Formats: sequence, structure tokens, C-alpha cells
Amino acid sequence: MRTSLVVLTFAALSALARAQSGPNDQLARDIFKELIEINTTDGPSGSVTKAAEAMAARLRAGGFAAADVQVLGPDPRKHNVVARYRGKGTKRPMLLLAHLDVVEARREDWTTDPFTFLEKDGFFYGRGTTDDKSMAAHFVANLLRLKKEGFTPERDLILALTADEEGGRFNGVDWLIQNHRALIDAEFAVNEGGGGSMRKGKYLTNEIQASEKVYQDFRIEVKNAGGHSSLPVKDNAIYHLAAGLSRLAAFEFPVALNEVTRTYFERSARVQSDPKMAADMRAVAGATPDLAAAARLAASQPYFNSMMRTTCVATQLEGGHAPNALPQLARANVNCRILPGVSAASVRETLIQVLADPQISVSNVSEARPSRPSPLRPDVMDVVESLTKEMYPGVVVIPVMSTGATDGLYLRNGEIPTYGIDGTFGDIDDVRAHGRDERIGVKQFYEGLEFQYRLIKALGAK
Ligand SMILES: [Zn+2]
Repeated sequence: MRTSLVVLTFAALSALARAQSGPNDQLARDIFKELIEINTTDGPSGSVTKAAEAMAARLRAGGFAAADVQVLGPDPRKHNVVARYRGKGTKRPMLLLAHLDVVEARREDWTTDPFTFLEKDGFFYGRGTTDDKSMAAHFVANLLRLKKEGFTPERDLILALTADEEGGRFNGVDWLIQNHRALIDAEFAVNEGGGGSMRKGKYLTNEIQASEKVYQDFRIEVKNAGGHSSLPVKDNAIYHLAAGLSRLAAFEFPVALNEVTRTYFERSARVQSDPKMAADMRAVAGATPDLAAAARLAASQPYFNSMMRTTCVATQLEGGHAPNALPQLARANVNCRILPGVSAASVRETLIQVLADPQISVSNVSEARPSRPSPLRPDVMDVVESLTKEMYPGVVVIPVMSTGATDGLYLRNGEIPTYGIDGTFGDIDDVRAHGRDERIGVKQFYEGLEFQYRLIKALGAK
């Protein structure tokens, strides 16, 4: 009886605590709403500039000097906003990066208007709610809060809200690095790509993205003199290509872990409920990975497989020019996701060996952009670990390598180590970024806001 009373009181208290709003909850919500309702798609109705200007106006109104808030870009619809929060200058600046652009969303595909901000059943709905306008709203609201509180960091805090991460011809980060390096130059950067994972309301892990795989397409091609299909010969372009692709289908690149992926498996083992899988995770995280364990993990989840090795897969096929002619051309696109540190040239060499047919040519579709992993800096890791412990007891911090790419690529290649850090949790079985009815939990949005406030304060002082 006594116990249940205590439990009840505790439950009532925590419900009360949750209902209380943080000092900048309302402001963050207003900014979030404003951002969602500005269409920032690449299409003709979208304008990133409009969103950049709206954020610049808020920062200036909140006490930023006009000279410290710049709206700039290579195209009238694709301006970025870069703002500098002045610190003591005892340390090099920290960059806070979020992209303002969003993936196209059609009204007819959605239950409600994707560009009307909607709060319903504990969620905020709208295009960009998870990718990446919540982060942008958090940054702006938190910098305004810190300004109001009179906080002076050791280092300058640079905010960059940018264009064309999702597509489009005017990638904001790339453009800023090429043309205005000094504006955004920093010791390290915080970006999207990380965040909390939960399942059915249970918070599991908080991921720090420290590395990304490298994207590379290869054109696999067979040319042949062709001829009349009533007189077939064994030397057939389609057969050459098909046989080569079958060899590729059976091939796997070697298992190779790095600092990030080794730590990923070692820590994931701690939260893994299946003891056999946990043992396999520990076995691949060792100094020499256990290959049998790696094979079991790879077979259990495509994501595990992709974390452990370079992958190359056939994604497109074309060939022949008439139903009654021997093919003069057979061609496939093979898409590779290359482990950082492995060169595209060496992957091409491997493909040539695996396809094992001198008639099959292998060429790069475009130039690969290598992306070097960011070192797991102890200062950054320590802050994320202690904040996670403080706000989400029991949640394990896990460094990850993205199998896709973000704008972190441009920064990392520009020698600015970049970390995907976000204290906002999302359900791993309900990922709607780029999809229909994109949404974010209301509670998680405000928690992420507070987490990021503490993060900026701590890293700004480090
Ligand atoms: Zn994004």
C-alpha cells in the first residue's frame, strides 16, 4: 500500500514535470512552425532564401549585431544564413549546421497539408519535422535563449542554416566552404545524422554520427558487333554482362571495421536483448573480427552488413536495341557504398577482377567524394555521454557510420571534424523522413531542445 502510494506520487510528479514547459519551448515551437510553413523544396514553389531571411530577422531582433548575421548564396532562391555568436575567443569556433531545404511533398500523398504545421495526438506533423527543421529550430531558439541569459562561451558559436542538402544544384555547405571559408571555419561541427532511437516509447540508444560511407556509381558495359538474331553466336553482350553480374552477386567485399564501427558493435552489444547476437557483436568488435560472427550479423540485417564492408550492388540495367537483333550494347549501373579510407580506384580494380571478363568495361559514372571519418574526440564524446546520462538514464551512447551521406561530407573533407548529435528521440519502426506524414513527438521535440541547449553550453565552454 505504502509502496503504491509512493509510486503514485512519483508518477503524478513526473507527469507534472513533463507538463511544465522549458523557458524557450514556446519560442522554439513558433520558430518550428514558421520554418515548416515556408516551402523550401527545390521545386518552383520553394525558397530556402525565405526561410533563411526569417531566421536572420529573428536573430537580429534577439540581439545579434547586423554584421554578425549574413544571408548569402549563389542563387536568389538558395540563400543560406550564417550567424556568429561572439565568445571570448580563447578557443577556435564551433559550427552548428542544419539544412533548411526539404524533400518534395505532395498534398495528395499526405493526410494533411505537408506545409501546414499541425500538432495532433502528441506529434508535430509537416514536411521537415524530422529532417531537418527541428534541428534548425532548436539551434535558433537556443542561441536566442543563451543571448538573453547573457552567456559568453569560450569560443564563437557559428550557426549555418543551408540550402540544397537534399538535392538541387546549390549545396550551401559546399558553396560556403569554397567561397566564404572564413565565415564558417571551425574547430569542429555539430550536424544532423545522429540522435536517439526508441522503440514503443522505450529510449534505447543515443547515436553520434562520426563517419559516412562514400557514394560511387560504376558503369559496367559490354559492346558487341551485333547481328541478325536468326543467326545467334555465343559471343553475346547480354550474356557476357549477365554472367559477370552473377559473379558480382556472389561476391562480398572483405569485413573491415574502423574505430567508429568497432565501438558501434561493442556498445550495441550492451543493449542487445538476444544474447547470441550480443556475443556476435562483441566477436566482430575484437582486434581481429570473428568472420563467422560477422557473417551471421550480416545475414540478420542489411545495416550490419553495410557497416562492416564496402558494398556494390547492381541497380539499373539496359541493353539491346531491337527484339530481332543481337545486342550491340549491354550496360548496368553498379552502386557502391565504399568504406571511408578505401579508394574508389581500388574498388574498381576489385570489380574488374570479380566480373572476370575482358569484354566487360568498368568506368566511374562520376568522381567519388571521399569522406574521412571524424576522430571520436574525447571532449565531444564526454559531453554527449554525461548529458545523455543526465537526461536519459540507462540510454547508451553509440558512435555510428552512416551508410548514406549528409553535408558532413563537405565539412569533413574541408578538415572540419563533424559530429551528428541530436538529443531528439524517434521510433526506429516509424521513420518518416522523406516520406508521407512526416512527424516528430512533441515531448521528444522539447527534450531535444533542452538537450541541445545544454550541449551548446557545454561544448562552447570546453
Ligand atoms: Zn537531412
